[in-house]
Amino acid sequence: MTSDPHNEPIFGTNGIRGIPNSDLSVEFSQEIGKAIGTFYGKVTVAMGRDTRDTGNMIFNAVSSGLMSAGTSVIDLGILPTPAVQFYCRTKGIFGVVITASHNPPQFNGIKCIADDGTELRREDEEKIEKIYYKKAYEAVSWEHAGSLKNDPTSLDLYIEGIMSHVDVEKIRKNQYRVLIDSGNGASYFTTPNLLRRLGCKVVSLNAYPDGKFTSRTSEPRPENLKDLITLMKSGTFNLGVAHDGDADRAVFIDENGNFIDGDKTLCLVVKSVIKPGSKVVTPISSSDAIDEICANGKAQLIRTRVGAPIVSRTMIDNKAMIGGEENGGIIYGEHQYCRDGAMTVALILNLMAEINRKVSELISGLPQFFIHKLSVERKKDWKTLEPAILSYSSSKKVDKSDGLKVYLDDGWVLMRPSGTEPIIRIYGQSRDEKIARNLALEYEAFILGLQE
Ligand code: MG
Repeated sequence: MTSDPHNEPIFGTNGIRGIPNSDLSVEFSQEIGKAIGTFYGKVTVAMGRDTRDTGNMIFNAVSSGLMSAGTSVIDLGILPTPAVQFYCRTKGIFGVVITASHNPPQFNGIKCIADDGTELRREDEEKIEKIYYKKAYEAVSWEHAGSLKNDPTSLDLYIEGIMSHVDVEKIRKNQYRVLIDSGNGASYFTTPNLLRRLGCKVVSLNAYPDGKFTSRTSEPRPENLKDLITLMKSGTFNLGVAHDGDADRAVFIDENGNFIDGDKTLCLVVKSVIKPGSKVVTPISSSDAIDEICANGKAQLIRTRVGAPIVSRTMIDNKAMIGGEENGGIIYGEHQYCRDGAMTVALILNLMAEINRKVSELISGLPQFFIHKLSVERKKDWKTLEPAILSYSSSKKVDKSDGLKVYLDDGWVLMRPSGTEPIIRIYGQSRDEKIARNLALEYEAFILGLQE
């Protein structure tokens, strides 16, 4: 990334990711800051970061680059990515977030936010890349260098924005007992704050910033949430919540200690907000349950390639009210067109209060589909693996819009190379949990065999 001479894309599906002082150097961060500043111009932009140890280092390098190009920076400090996005959307300004989302602690990243709060469009990222490769940086004279200031109102702005979309009084009446595991990430003070303002009795786990994520891995998978699940099994709480590192995603544990798959959360939220004629956007990786829910609710479902920015843009283009992914990333268009973990928490509590049901009851009322997810190391180029997988699946219908989605009699398998890591993600989906798992395992074994 630091000395790539080939004019290759610098921004991946979720911005720039790398290991600071390895493939994400301070020098590169400052130069890309200069390029971003040259593109943004002599305006004021917002910047935030998650709790990673290298956050300040990368933040300072990027912000000094921005200021040297004449761009002023509002430092929002540690804040969930969606809170920075909401700030940008509300103020109509561009932004930069220093985060590597759910990646391990050695990683960090640089993500650009458009003035409508969504991830910057690819064509604008390309303009920044062009400036970077040509070293065509704006370098203003000293009296026009950008300034840096803070804005302590960003937290209230975000929390109040979320609360405006739910029936606060109805939620407060229930005095829900909620256990929240922030995983030492950026939500450590935001979601507990929201929950208290919604009248919940809040118990927090790992609610302090720790950039090494020593309490748990920042990816909110069931195997990383053992403490939360064990405590939920005590039967003391109505709802368990966990976020990833930058809190654009939320996953839930029911009142009995059962992990709720992100696909089911998506279905629940979609089912609760759609009206006839509503538009819903989701990638090809989420289950067929959402097709049934949309058909029953007379809503139109639009499927996209995998990736939150693609879902966001498709929602904007189609004026869709709700969208999201099977990993717990839910986008509520009435609030903002990006994934927002805390907004998802508020929507689930709103639904519980509105129809007076426990979470487990809400989940059991959904069409039953299962997704089994695996990932394998990608040792060979995807393009060389694709034909072999296709011929292995030759008798089946295949969707090639993003990786390969192979339809079988009792479900489907989706295989795609990750945009952020050297792995291939495999999703097996079926009405039967065991079949979903077996489908994923079968194709995992086949792909492993191809790479031996
Ligand atoms: Mg994230």
